[in-house]
Amino acid sequence: ASSSTLVKNSTNHNAIHQPVTQRSILLSSTNNYLSNPLVTRLCRATSTHSIWNETALPDKIKTLDEYKAIYALSIKDPNRFWKMAAECLDWYQFPTKIKNTEFDYRTSRGVDIKWYEDGIINVCYNCLDRHIHHDHSIAQQVALIFEPDTPTESRHHITYAELLRDVKKFANVLKKHGVKKGDRVTLYMPMVIEACVAMLACARIGAVHSVIFGGFSPNNIAERISGCDSTVIITTDFGVRGGKSSPLKTKIDQALALKQCSNVKTVLVFERNHGMTELKDDCSHLRKTLEWTDGRDFWVHKEMETVNDKCEPERMNAEDPLFILYTSGSTGTPKGIVHTTGGYLTYTSLTFKYSFDYNPGDVYMCTADIGWITGHSYVVYGPLANRATTVIFEGIPTYPDVSRYWNIIDKHEVNIFYTAPTAIRSLMQHDDAYVTKTNRQSLRILGSVGEPINPEAWKWYHSVVGDNRCPIIDTWWQTETGGIMISPIPNAWELEPGSATFPFFGIQTQLFDQTTKKPLKPPNHGELCIADSWPGQARSLYRNHERFVDVYFKTYPGYYFTGDGCEIKPNGYHWITGRVDDVLVISGHNIGTAEVEAALEEHTSVTEAAVVGYPDPKKNQGMYCFVTLKGNVKPSEELRKELIRSVRDSIGAHVYPDVIHFTSNLPKTRSGKIMRRILRKIVEPDTSNLGDTSTLNDPTIVEELIKNSPRTK
Ligand code: ATP
Ligand code: MG
Repeated sequence: ASSSTLVKNSTNHNAIHQPVTQRSILLSSTNNYLSNPLVTRLCRATSTHSIWNETALPDKIKTLDEYKAIYALSIKDPNRFWKMAAECLDWYQFPTKIKNTEFDYRTSRGVDIKWYEDGIINVCYNCLDRHIHHDHSIAQQVALIFEPDTPTESRHHITYAELLRDVKKFANVLKKHGVKKGDRVTLYMPMVIEACVAMLACARIGAVHSVIFGGFSPNNIAERISGCDSTVIITTDFGVRGGKSSPLKTKIDQALALKQCSNVKTVLVFERNHGMTELKDDCSHLRKTLEWTDGRDFWVHKEMETVNDKCEPERMNAEDPLFILYTSGSTGTPKGIVHTTGGYLTYTSLTFKYSFDYNPGDVYMCTADIGWITGHSYVVYGPLANRATTVIFEGIPTYPDVSRYWNIIDKHEVNIFYTAPTAIRSLMQHDDAYVTKTNRQSLRILGSVGEPINPEAWKWYHSVVGDNRCPIIDTWWQTETGGIMISPIPNAWELEPGSATFPFFGIQTQLFDQTTKKPLKPPNHGELCIADSWPGQARSLYRNHERFVDVYFKTYPGYYFTGDGCEIKPNGYHWITGRVDDVLVISGHNIGTAEVEAALEEHTSVTEAAVVGYPDPKKNQGMYCFVTLKGNVKPSEELRKELIRSVRDSIGAHVYPDVIHFTSNLPKTRSGKIMRRILRKIVEPDTSNLGDTSTLNDPTIVEELIKNSPRTK
């Protein structure tokens, strides 16, 4: 094939497939390459006949044996496995080099991660054009379903052809404003179709997007704009969430007035839902109040009229950066994570396909905001690369009432639904009738991500939302990992409430002892590391490779350190026990705070709990529990005693909550995670320096907690 035509790779490169033998790839005793006992156990033969033809990855993983067989290959021969995975994408030039990675900072090469390094590919092409090229009827398939904040506003569907047209036009607008391959572009957008258009347009021309969550304040925005040297900003005039409009463009104006943003030359402003004339809240009354800087600010809908809809995708090297994304800031100053092109798309595409068992025609919905990694990998790139139909939801789960998610599921007949434990916990405190009055028969799979899901929430999600019919796919991963790392595959094996079960293909988990820094053999509990590279992992921190190496590769030389604790049970199931900083050592016992929180949350009166330690001269640490109660429950001494008792009953007599602090709310990141590092400071108490609080959703709660804490009184 000539280099100018894009064809499915398997026909345009010299296939180096292994001969098609039907031999079993299950391990024999001569395979001694697996020193990791967990891997050995996962790979242990359970049948002697071949259960998988090794030449191409199957469409579905149906059984544990099939998973084990493929997992074994992915560990034994990552080059072969990840080559097959890359064949799911279309490349201008299929890579001849698959894996080239070094995790050990002590080597002369140092930490250096490259996948598919001589491959040439375009992410946008793979998410849009190729589906239509392969099958013209896909042009008419709905790519995105827009569900606006107010449910009575009209719905808006956009097909693959329409999305492609808009992306090409907007890519031309970017080009017109001088954006070139490699330039960084900052996006500050609500959950609207235009946000996907902007991301894909950047990917199409090889610009590196940096999406900032739409809730951030001008200071946070300015930091992130200057942090990646963007000169072009994309935003909308307004965002609407929970019935309230937020002036995004005005916040950009305020950020740009700060000195560090003096390099910004262009602000491209989408009208919220331009052309959707049926929208009740079209913000037109507010639009009049916008300030405008001529020569810098441009309306996108007007710019779109000045360009055509022809735009060839840029040929990108697999290791060219695709985007920069700042982490949530749960544990410290947010880090500007850099993801690259070929490996990232291969990984998000394959994990989406297997972890959500996506079937053509399924309607998929992920509630994550595009400002977070879940929004990148599992609202935009993973689903579109798999030609999925995705619901983009602008609003919040509690508006106009707490049935909102379930109503949306019915309205669009959603089959696969992916949300976060924080949303589940906030919805389950209300009457089940808000759920049960809806139909939800379309649902097939329910996903969870973001924090450990406590068994109580898991069971409610499973029984009340999923009518005991849908598997709960608890997916553990991080901004840094690019995609899902540990998760069940639907219906391939039994689930246990609260366990993310097994690692994805190619992911070798390894536990370490926090004190001795020695590897631990499962079953055990320790700090979770990953023994070898996978294509979706972050390559660096933007212009700060040193911090990248320090944070992830210095604690356990030769391993990627996740910062999370994990227990691997005798059956190989993985249980994430929270951040390693969240493990308490009390009178010689290691106690995972997630476990105590889960015990507290089992109580019918409790909505949410956050447990942290404080210094105690006798026991080393004392246990401090922040607890929020269901709407109608009043705090009382009796309830306090009951909670202490239930923790001891459920975990053991050695676990004694010293303080139960009832509060109306907890400090959370804007992505909805409890910020335990702030709680630790409060109870220490060391409130003079709370660290980076810029990513807090509601800073006033911190004052309230300090005021009411017996440790600061
Ligand atoms: P920062 O790195 O800035 O502190 P963050 O870690 O909260 O922020 P993310 O990358 O969005 O930012 O979150 C990844 C973390 O979320 C994981 O390290 C883990 O602690 C937690 N997490 C995500 N999914 C799960 C899950 N299914 N089970 C348990 N924990 C999870
Ligand atoms: Mg993190």
